[in-house]
Amino acid sequence: MEQRYDCLVVGAGLAGAVAARELAERGGRRVLVLERRSHVGGNAYDRFDEAGVLIHQYGPHIFHTNDKRVFDYLSRFTAWRNYQHKVVANIPKGEGRTLLPVPFNLVSLEVAFGRRRARALEEKLIAAYGAENKVTILELRQSPDPELSALADYVYDHVFVRYTMKQWGQTPEEIDPNTTARVPVFLSRDCRYFQDEYQGLPLEGYTPMFEKLLDHPDVTVALDTDAGRRLTLGEDGITRLDGAAFAGTVIYTGAADELFGCRFGRLPYRTLEFQCETHPVDAYQTHGTVNYTMDEAFTRITEFKHLTGQVLPKTTTIMKEYARAYTGRPGEIPYYAIINDANNALYARYRSAAERYPNLRLLGRLAEYKYYNMDAIAKRALALCDDLLK
Ligand code: FAD
Ligand code: UDP
Repeated sequence: MEQRYDCLVVGAGLAGAVAARELAERGGRRVLVLERRSHVGGNAYDRFDEAGVLIHQYGPHIFHTNDKRVFDYLSRFTAWRNYQHKVVANIPKGEGRTLLPVPFNLVSLEVAFGRRRARALEEKLIAAYGAENKVTILELRQSPDPELSALADYVYDHVFVRYTMKQWGQTPEEIDPNTTARVPVFLSRDCRYFQDEYQGLPLEGYTPMFEKLLDHPDVTVALDTDAGRRLTLGEDGITRLDGAAFAGTVIYTGAADELFGCRFGRLPYRTLEFQCETHPVDAYQTHGTVNYTMDEAFTRITEFKHLTGQVLPKTTTIMKEYARAYTGRPGEIPYYAIINDANNALYARYRSAAERYPNLRLLGRLAEYKYYNMDAIAKRALALCDDLLK
């Protein structure tokens, strides 16, 4: 029987959407995309809530990259709103509270210690690490200078330790050092969260960008369709679609353990619970995201209007994020791979199992069990298609 599709893509997140588009447009393949959710976009999906506010349903997403190819590629499917993300930590100070720029920088230094003391510390920091440079909190804690070491303890206590405990259930020393390195101490007065050359949000939102990506005559998207219902991996090393052998490329962007019925055990993840609140005010907070690094049960509050630039008088929606262990219960979403040696070793067993299927490729944050930003995902999807289409 002639097959209707040349390629199968599981997941309509960024990895799946870019891959599907490339295979169809550049490779002339007929592509079927299976997506278990009722919408495209994966975790970058956005929508208007009941109050008419554009929200990111699975947590705030800010696009940022230094990769021109990725930026130019996505720019085919969206115009951009130039948005420079700024984050502050809301911490107790004296009787009240104060807002400390995050990443901790030379402005944070002044907020924390006052001008005079900050000036002396700034000189020491710059002599040790260089102006405009970044140093991770774990490196700063190694400083032999007692004053810098005391400063490192301050930053660790006020910015990192409790936030990390909330997010990961572990201390900064226990988690992968690349994670806290994402938010280094920055010896600069640049208060932006990211310094990448290109940053912003799709002008009309992420979902329209995904709809355009997937809008190609040779791409068919089946929503509300779990791949488990249609794709089977035979013990004979053959992939089957709806029971028939399928020799075309299969790009899988879901969780690697799920693909094999978790036969070697579940890959550990952190999941999130998002609580949205709509308030009858123009603005709820001063910044797009406020991190609660000392107290409260949630990690951060994001107010979407700052991100999207949406103008809507006397209405705003905020989102609080609570992190906890992923258990695999139905409906729960694995958001963050917990990267350590034991989990990487478990993942390697699933990757080897996948390698038995010559036409199967694992792509994306879940399938590769990595902490990828959106730009890294788009880059990997483009590179995979370069490889498949060469
Ligand atoms: P996903 O977006 O997870 O897409 C995978 C898709 O596969 C999902 O739609 C899923 O439903 C589907 N799927 C899985 N299994 C199956 C199956 N069996 N059958 C059918 N479909 C299936 N990155 C940034 O660059 N900037 C940010 O500001 C940022 N903020 C983030 C905030 C949060 C809270 C989180 C969790 C992530 C954030 N990221 C951010 C990372 C970003 O979400 C990812 O890089 C990107 O979404 C990864 O795309 P993906 O396609 O690999 O995965
Ligand atoms: N982090 C922290 N305090 C902060 C911001 C970040 O301790 O105010 C740590 C925490 O461990 C977090 C990691 O740095 O998980 C990476 O933060 P990032 O904002 O990059 O995480 P994202 O939300 O983008 O995944």
